[in-house]
Amino acid sequence: MSEVSERVLSSKVSDYVGKKVTLKGWVNIRRDHGKLIFFDLRDKDGLVQVVVIPSSSGKAYEAAQDIRPEYVVQVLGKVNRRPEGTINKALASGTVEVEAEAIKVLSASDTPPIDVTTDGLEIGEDLRLKYRFLDLRRSRMQDNIRKRHKIIKEIRDFLDKEGFIEVETPILTKSTPEGARDYIVPSRLEKGKFYALPQSPQQYKQLLMVAGVEKYFQIARCFRDEDTRSDRQPEFTQLDLEISFVQREDVMEINEKLLIYLVKTLYPDKKIQKIPFPKLSFKEAVEKYGSDRPDLREDKDDPNLLAFCWIIDFPFFEKTEEGGWTFTHNPFSAPEPKYMEMLMKKENVGEIIASQYDIVLNGFEIGGGSIRNHRPEALEKVFEVMGYDKKTINENFGHMLRAFSYGAPPHGGIAWGLDRLIAVLQSQETIREVIPFAKTGEGRDLMMESPSIVSDKQLRELGLKIGK
Ligand code: ASP
Repeated sequence: MSEVSERVLSSKVSDYVGKKVTLKGWVNIRRDHGKLIFFDLRDKDGLVQVVVIPSSSGKAYEAAQDIRPEYVVQVLGKVNRRPEGTINKALASGTVEVEAEAIKVLSASDTPPIDVTTDGLEIGEDLRLKYRFLDLRRSRMQDNIRKRHKIIKEIRDFLDKEGFIEVETPILTKSTPEGARDYIVPSRLEKGKFYALPQSPQQYKQLLMVAGVEKYFQIARCFRDEDTRSDRQPEFTQLDLEISFVQREDVMEINEKLLIYLVKTLYPDKKIQKIPFPKLSFKEAVEKYGSDRPDLREDKDDPNLLAFCWIIDFPFFEKTEEGGWTFTHNPFSAPEPKYMEMLMKKENVGEIIASQYDIVLNGFEIGGGSIRNHRPEALEKVFEVMGYDKKTINENFGHMLRAFSYGAPPHGGIAWGLDRLIAVLQSQETIREVIPFAKTGEGRDLMMESPSIVSDKQLRELGLKIGK
């Protein structure tokens, strides 16, 4: 009998009927059937059933007595067709089983604090997050992280073909006004000064347009220090994108094309309710559905139905509690062209409509973007409406105004909340199910136990003192 000494994965075992193969992986479930011992061996591709018979397997049988769930083992055995009636159609290896001849324990396991053989939804989430390295072993979570990889890969391939390039932008950057609180990082070399973690790469991507990149994207990590919300994470991932020489409809069109491509390529069982995606004005959406992210699904019980829609024509400014004005979405947005004059004159600012577009899926806002103010004097007007004086504008946005004074192309873009999109596509209840190392709703990493205190020495070096 020929022997295959290099490792064979569970998904490929059925190609080796009648041969001896080596398997490596985790003991998923072990079942003692009187004399026979069965266990499922789990690897990255799935499960394969191993059977240990006392008479034919000698030492293997002794070894099998000791192995327990989550042990890492190596099995040498013969691939047999399963008897009719015991075929398991749910497994790639379901037509075969491996009769063990030798079993070697590569690594033992303590009794796992959580069951990894179920979908895990019956387990308290704190425990799952604390033992995330175990939690990720379950097939539902493996599917989530593997599909996440595929989605990101397809995005990259699609955009590359469309002439985009991916450019990394800094994580240590400067505080920007994007509506949320910044995470800040103290500078050791310049005591008393701070970097901020990016709420999004907004300014850098616009500077890349000034730099002549024309078609940029990035799978970008963003950080927002927001108050506890059950389905928010302090750090999350965006597909961030920016294009030069475009109008609102161009950006919407390429994004729509990409979303349709992803669903058709990776989720052929899912149905997009309406193509092209419906477009609703903010006013229409609120009047008709009472929300600017309406769930337009005709059948809400159908997990495979995807109802995308665009929301456009948002008001640019809204009143602040103090009676001034602030932006509704993004201070870098341009107004819709016919409102440009109103902005320049700072007249009837409550009526100015922004070039903003949001993309909504099944009631979730999965992205948003706009055409930008590429003329420095228009951008300056936005800040003036918001009540910033010249000095503040210069301190905070001098670099943008300066850049825009050296030939900035008209440009616009969008960012998707990738975690949310993946959660919807994977039919998962929360974004934590599709973020491999998620934090709790309170922003804690229960596995690493962060945030955590740092040593006095570290604080001293940074010139920091913790207040009472
Ligand atoms: N930077 C914006 C955001 O994170 C998206 C955009 O306008 O491109 O919401």
